[in-house]
Parts: sequence; structure tokens; C-alpha cells
Amino acid sequence: MSAQILDGKAIAAELRESIRLEVDRQVAAGQARPGLAVILVGEDPASQVYVRNKKIACEAAGFNDVSEVLPADTSQEAVLALIDQLNADPKVHGIIVQLPVPKHINPETIIERIDPRKDVDGFHPYNVGRLATRMPIMAPCTPHGVMTLLAKTGIALRGLDAVVVGASNIVGVPQLLELLNERATVTICHSATKNLPEKIAQADLVVVGVGIPEMVKGAWIKPGAIVIDVGINRLEDGRLVGDVEYATAKERASWITPVPGGVGPMTIATLLENTLKAAYSKAD
Ligand code: NDP
Repeated sequence: MSAQILDGKAIAAELRESIRLEVDRQVAAGQARPGLAVILVGEDPASQVYVRNKKIACEAAGFNDVSEVLPADTSQEAVLALIDQLNADPKVHGIIVQLPVPKHINPETIIERIDPRKDVDGFHPYNVGRLATRMPIMAPCTPHGVMTLLAKTGIALRGLDAVVVGASNIVGVPQLLELLNERATVTICHSATKNLPEKIAQADLVVVGVGIPEMVKGAWIKPGAIVIDVGINRLEDGRLVGDVEYATAKERASWITPVPGGVGPMTIATLLENTLKAAYSKAD
């Protein structure tokens, strides 16, 4: 069996188009355009690429891009003051601080300063708590984008045995919460997990985000399982690969995400989705 491909690039393009149409409708009805502020401190090359891609996606969706690029030696107090200013600005509906930040800045302090209603990354403890108590408002973009991809399979998640590999605040933990909220039975694995291959072999659904090229072998996958690969790794020869051994996993899975073109494009599309929600819905 060769898996069906979950084409994140196409699904993200569909989502971005639906967001653009909604912005057009809202603007025609007299509403302001959604405003998204991305704060980038320093010159991390991967972050610069991400911020540039976000800017392009923002403009294509009809959002106002109000990004701020600050020098690497900007003090934490100056970043906090900028966040305060953006929190108070009615034209700004979403604020994200691109991670990683330089070492002299504490990311938790920064994240906690963002007004939770404008926390479109979904990293503020308030929003994590909302997700954990089954009252989500702003959910982290990558795991929520995975849920959008999973919905496209048409497979009900309720009762599935799911294994999430990786337990970071950005990927694994919110993914666990999202799947639990859909009533999957979830096992979460990390660097101290024993017998990972055996756990994966039991799973109807595997979501992997560890940052180790092709760590999860195709032979571990239960035939017919859904495989979601969040990993993005650049090899020395320049190729991009995921955390799953794609060629072999594809022969066992029922559905699989490619890398690139799977989960990656969903992250920015979901960021736009969260910003749209922050701009137009009257959240409690
Ligand atoms: P982190 O480094 O923050 O977390 C990695 C996680 O993997 C940790 O929980 C760690 O365990 C776990 N881990 C490490 N080694 C093993 C192992 N041998 N077996 C099982 N678990 C292990 O990474 P991120 O969550 O930020 O990113 C993970 C991957 O996802 C990366 O490839 C990244 O590039 C990609 N990514 C992709 C995005 C997208 O848009 N597609 C967005 C964000 C990330 P422990 O907790 O014990 O340390």
C-alpha cells in the first residue's frame, strides 16, 4: 500500500484564500483590516526567512503588516515597552515575538506580556490553559494546523490510538491537548521515553516533531496508520527532510505528510487564521 499524501501546500493555499475572502467581506462591511505585528529581535537567518514569508502571506490575505525588526542588542525592557504599545494599539490584532530571542531576553517574560487576546501564537499560559481545559481561544499554530490537515482525511479521531513524539511547548504538548480534545487516546513521547518503536507500532496516528532527521523508521509504522511529520531538517547536501523516514513510511501509512509541503505551510496559514479570529470574533 502506498499512502495518500496530505498536501499541506494546497490545503494551506485554500485556507489562505478563504481568509482573504473573509477579510474582503469584513472590509466591505466597514471593519478594519486585521493587523499583525511580528517582533524580530536580531538577525537569526531562519527567523528572517520566516518573518519574510509571513509578511508575504499577510499582504496576500489583505492584512496590515506592522512588523518590527529590532537590533540584537535591544534590551528586554525595550521589547516589553514595544509590546505594551502594540497591546494598546486598536489597529493591531495579533502580536508574535519570533523565537528564539537573544540570550539576554527571557522568552517567558516576553510571551506573558502579550495581551492574551492578541497572542496569535497561542503560547501565553492563559491560552495554553484554555486549550488544556477544553475552552480553546488561540491555539498554537503548528499543532492546530495539523488538526486542519487531519480533518482533510475525513477520518474520525475519536478513539484512535495516537502517539505524539516530541513534547515541546510549541509542538508536542499542544498537539497532545488538541488530540485529547478530539477524544483520541494519546501517548506523548520525549527523550526519556523507553521502547519508542513499540509505542509507535501500536499507533493509528503518529505525529512526530523532534528535530532529528528521519529518526522514526518506516518499519515502525503500523500498516494503515496516519503519519504526520512536523520535522524540518536541512541536511549537509542541502536537502530538506522530516523526522520520519518518508520513503519507507509511505509504503505502510494510509495518509502521510511530505516534507517539505506538509505541515510547514499550515503554520503560517494558521497564524493568519488566528489573527482573523482575534480581529473579528468577540471572544469571551
Ligand atoms: P524542541 O527541540 O523544542 O523539542 C524536541 C522534542 O523532541 C523534545 O520534547 C525532546 O524531548 C524530543 N526528543 C528529542 N530527542 C528525542 C528522541 N530521541 N526520542 C523521542 N523524543 C525526542 O523542538 P521543536 O518542538 O521546536 O521542533 C521539533 C521539530 O519540528 C524540528 O524539526 C522543527 O524544525 C520542527 N518544527 C516545524 C514547524 C513547522 O511549521 N512545520 C514548527 C515548529 C517546529 P525532551 O522534552 O525530553 O527534551
